[in-house]
Amino acid sequence: MDNIIELKGIKKCYDDFVAVKDFNLEVKKGEFVTFLGPSGCGKTTTLRMIAGFELPSEGHILLNGKDISVLPPNKRPINTVFQRYALFPHLNIFDNIAFGLKMKTIETTYTNSKGETVTRREKLSKSEIREKVKRALEIVDLEGFEKRNVSTLSGGQQQRIAIARAIVNEPEILLLDEPLGALDSKMRKEMQLELKAMHEKFGITFIYVTHDQEEALTMSDKVVVMSDGMIQQVGTPEEIYNEPNTVFVADFIGESNIFSGKMSDKKKVSFCNAEFPCLDDFHVGADVDVVIRPEDIEMTAPEKGQIKGTVQSVIFRGMHYDITVQSGNNEVLIKSTKNAVIGEELGLTIEPDGIHVIYAQTNINTY
Ligand code: ATP
Repeated sequence: MDNIIELKGIKKCYDDFVAVKDFNLEVKKGEFVTFLGPSGCGKTTTLRMIAGFELPSEGHILLNGKDISVLPPNKRPINTVFQRYALFPHLNIFDNIAFGLKMKTIETTYTNSKGETVTRREKLSKSEIREKVKRALEIVDLEGFEKRNVSTLSGGQQQRIAIARAIVNEPEILLLDEPLGALDSKMRKEMQLELKAMHEKFGITFIYVTHDQEEALTMSDKVVVMSDGMIQQVGTPEEIYNEPNTVFVADFIGESNIFSGKMSDKKKVSFCNAEFPCLDDFHVGADVDVVIRPEDIEMTAPEKGQIKGTVQSVIFRGMHYDITVQSGNNEVLIKSTKNAVIGEELGLTIEPDGIHVIYAQTNINTY
């Protein structure tokens, strides 16, 4: 698959403040890529540089191999959907979607009979505009809504109209900046699935911004985890969740137990007063951080466990229990469908593929 967008060595400064740095990323045609990270980590700034609303202080942005770093937004085949969908309240749905199409001029260059190069500028015809608006409404499942007023639509419907407006002039890339942020949680979940389905239907490349990790994991082909203006990890949702390569990623995505440990052998790691096999090679004696997902820990009888401890708390969460176990100085969180009793002595076991080891020094950006 070809790269549609490449960001090479991007840095963005506002006076002395560095909002984005060392940003290198390739986005493939048709991919659904999500920028995920806490507030202020530089997601929107990066998106605005792709859209052309901000210029990078350093580095280059390539679109289909061509440098577009300083191209104005209206010359880029890129549209943006914002959190506040900014529909025009006084226009009906047809006019909201058709707005950009009515402004648009199509330039065609040809050679005339005298051998001169001529550029012709034409507006789209009324019937072409009608056809394009109809098709955009079909894609967002709101066919027949042309004459409705914005105020008569639900939040989710308004968001779909904003998307119809953004796709009507067939951009190559759609940028979505927290587009579901204004919706309640039920509507948000529904729209996540709808957006994903729309992405499959359009064949357009989506670059999506969110600080909601569940949203990023549900929707994306590729997740770019950011913190402090830098990329922490790029990977599929499964890779980001199952193989976090920094403590920041492990902590930000889902819930994790993070223990300080030491490599007692090339493939053996010690933590919580026990030794565990480890799938990768590390330097003997190295200080490491050990990341273990709460669902990868099994509770068993004390004599059968690798780690021993006492149950401190049990919280019923519907599908599972959150159980904390004190083992020496370490508190261990377990997610289990099995119940436990406060004060009970337990053994805990972890399979080798549930143990993720990271060199203790590398939890700064290594990407
Ligand atoms: P959020 O999730 O809260 O929208 P974000 O990850 O999108 O956050 P950005 O909006 O990209 O973060 O901002 C990154 C940093 O750059 C922030 O510290 C912000 O205050 C700063 N910043 C953004 N725009 C400007 C500006 N025009 N002038 C000065 N600083 C700015």
